[in-house]
Amino acid sequence: MKDFDKRVNSTVIDGHLHIEGIYNNKGEHFLNGFEEYRNTKGLKRLNIAALPSGKRDVANNILCAFYKLAHPQDFAHGGLTFKEYPVNPNEKTDMSPLTQYKELMEIGFDGIKLLEGKPQVHKVLGIPLCHEYFDEFYDAIEKDGTHLLFHVNDPEEFWDPDKASEEIKKLGWFYGDGTYASNEEVYRQIYAILDKHPNLKVTFAHFFFYSKQPQKLEALFEKYPNACVDVTPGGEMFVSFSENPEYYKEFFKKYSNRVLLGTDSTFPYSADDMMWICDRVYRYFATTDTLKSFNGCEITGIDLPNEFRENIFHKNFENRVGAEPKKINKEALKRYIEKYKHLIKEKDYLEEIERLTKELL
Ligand SMILES: [Zn+2]
Repeated sequence: MKDFDKRVNSTVIDGHLHIEGIYNNKGEHFLNGFEEYRNTKGLKRLNIAALPSGKRDVANNILCAFYKLAHPQDFAHGGLTFKEYPVNPNEKTDMSPLTQYKELMEIGFDGIKLLEGKPQVHKVLGIPLCHEYFDEFYDAIEKDGTHLLFHVNDPEEFWDPDKASEEIKKLGWFYGDGTYASNEEVYRQIYAILDKHPNLKVTFAHFFFYSKQPQKLEALFEKYPNACVDVTPGGEMFVSFSENPEYYKEFFKKYSNRVLLGTDSTFPYSADDMMWICDRVYRYFATTDTLKSFNGCEITGIDLPNEFRENIFHKNFENRVGAEPKKINKEALKRYIEKYKHLIKEKDYLEEIERLTKELL
């Protein structure tokens, strides 16, 4: 382990990872795709968040379930999938959000991931996130105390034609052309959900994109006792943190029980790329290093005292999701694959899932 890792001096759970492929360019399979990262960074546990909606499909839930089956020490969050877009909330279906939630819990997912607040997914969904179509689903999650990792919005400048970079536009992340809901409208829908379900155990990914207006986040924390955020880059947030070091050092002490660590590292990224991201997060919280960071900007660490760091690095995750991951129920996973595999769009994924079903279930 390198020197700066020793300075972290804490157990760490990376609470926000993804899988988006079967093999990486070194020919490693996704089931082994995080091992170098895990071992080098000394991570205790990982949490893989499935992304089965929007341009992706149900295959992503299934890959994450297989990952968890192969790595019983790790967590995974499953997501909702949709037969078609826009969603028809009046259609009678055997895959309502509540039904899917129950199926995912039965399989042994540790929580729910929703990407539906990300503008592209929100747009194709065609119904508001606070639509009554989702009511029973949010009710059940709230009642069960199930952890919900929720991606809502994106950095504000992605709506601004003058501020969104060419790179962002190329990625299809410019939302100011009038075809996307405004950033304010998406927040409005989320607050409507929280007002109806004030005890929802929700963690908003990427600091809820509030790093430039943290007072709003403080107000949210005060009003909704179970709402948290993760500090998964979104590099722009670390730049904002670094521009306001005194404020944020106090913020992270005061709210250390409301902040979770994650990196968004995604298989098939190389282990080096995963470690680079993790280093920025580690060194921001655990050192006073000044280092080149996201968007080419420099950030300086705040060396948060260990008692607070421990909350962010692992304790909050354990308190909210559980100290031990749930076990995969093979029979439930088999039933889920049978029910949903006709919705898998890519032949490669379908073939791999059929192969893994024979081999592992
Ligand atoms: Zn993510």
